[in-house]
Amino acid sequence: METRRAPRILVSGAGVAGPVLAYWLTRHGFSVTVVEHAPALRRSGGHAVDLFRPAVEISEKMGVLPRIEERATGTNRMTVHPEGSRRPVRADLAKVFGAASDRHVEIMRDDLSAIYYDAARDDVEYVFGDSITAISPDGEVRFENAAPRRFDLVVGADGLHSNVRRLVFDDESRFRSFIGAYFGVVSLPNASGLDGELLLHVGVGRTAGMYGARHLGDARALFLFRSEHELDCHHHDVRRQKELLRGAFAGMHTDVDRWLDGLDRTPAFYFDSITQLRMDSWSLGRVTLVGDAGYCPGPAVGGSTSLAVVGAYVLAGELARARGDHERAFPAYERLMAEHVHGSRASALSAAKTLIPTSRLGVWGLAQGARLISALPAAPGRALVRLGTRSARLYNSVTVEDYPPPAAASGGPGGRAGDGRDGPMSG
Ligand SMILES: Cc1cc2nc3c(=O)[nH]c(=O)nc-3n(C[C@H](O)[C@H](O)[C@H](O)COP(=O)(O)OP(=O)(O)OC[C@H]3O[C@@H](n4cnc5c(N)ncnc54)[C@H](O)[C@@H]3O)c2cc1C
Repeated sequence: METRRAPRILVSGAGVAGPVLAYWLTRHGFSVTVVEHAPALRRSGGHAVDLFRPAVEISEKMGVLPRIEERATGTNRMTVHPEGSRRPVRADLAKVFGAASDRHVEIMRDDLSAIYYDAARDDVEYVFGDSITAISPDGEVRFENAAPRRFDLVVGADGLHSNVRRLVFDDESRFRSFIGAYFGVVSLPNASGLDGELLLHVGVGRTAGMYGARHLGDARALFLFRSEHELDCHHHDVRRQKELLRGAFAGMHTDVDRWLDGLDRTPAFYFDSITQLRMDSWSLGRVTLVGDAGYCPGPAVGGSTSLAVVGAYVLAGELARARGDHERAFPAYERLMAEHVHGSRASALSAAKTLIPTSRLGVWGLAQGARLISALPAAPGRALVRLGTRSARLYNSVTVEDYPPPAAASGGPGGRAGDGRDGPMSG
């Protein structure tokens, strides 16, 4: 009997969702190529991201949780300086996160990406320094550098400003929804020797913070500020972006002035609006999207990394369950993700409101809320967070289906010719 070949899947993007998807697809018997625009995997640290319970459990199934925990930032203390007040409030950050999700790990984004990449690098074809330029409905894919190739399915895992989304769906402007805030991240020398601590200055409409991770050579300063309207600023205009940050944080505190002074010398600077990606459906024909590319609830307000990990796991599982039939798998994937995606959007809006308060009462509430949760025993702390935030309800209530391990899946997606289960891609 002739064995039918395993469907070939092209994934664009080797950030977080891409490598997780590649791992699970290969475990389910698919043949996977990942094309990444960057010349190599970024190992410069990036920014800290959060894995909440469902994503922690998926990482555990992948066998990479010990490595993730080893590289965790270890940020477990927080000192909040409400603007205008002389008395900082100290809080146990581990308890605050613990109250929001019963399992949580914070890790630098580049460390996480490398760990997921290592998990399946020998089974996946990774192509760095290239990008898709066209995808035809029959599966022919063109690249900037490589010769055209044919794939059965294409998945865009190429982040908030996704190339695949632009090529197949439409321009980003059609799907983005500005949530009224901007943020910047700056790498700076860890002059004050921050270790496991987040220092936060919070005022009405603006929040600046700095954290240092144990194993990072430098620290990160994070700036979040409100703006009712989108600002006139091109996303490549770094000089203007730095000007906007200086303007928004002028006179806040001497710590913040010092961080702003570093703006001209920083080796790494990131600035963007906090934007949600809202698509009614993120699959079309043989193409689908995963992670920020399809449903970013807003960077820096938490949740999007976990959502990307869960999305990748569910997509791979549904493709395996449908034996590679994307016409069944893609709608099932979207259906299963819908509640989590909607919940994450709502939770990001509420996190943005808490993190960048709109009133003096909000500033006070952030500081005192954090202090109260740290002071309470775990159970009442969790109850308080559950009452006050959507994220706690979301992360602790999301359940992810278990997809049978490949060995137990009869025959894998390749199946056997003549078994009466013709896949859609056999022609
Ligand atoms: C500054 C900042 C702070 C953040 N803070 C948090 C936080 O506190 N908590 C949290 O949970 N999340 C946070 N996030 C969001 C988090 O980084 C993302 O949600 C997460 O990385 C999503 O993973 P992804 O794989 O979907 O996208 P990404 O990690 O963005 O990966 C996309 C990949 O696609 C590649 N790519 C782009 N274009 C192309 C192309 N044309 N061809 C091929 N490859 C391409 C990119 O190089 C990248 O490797 C933050 C994001 C930023 C930018």
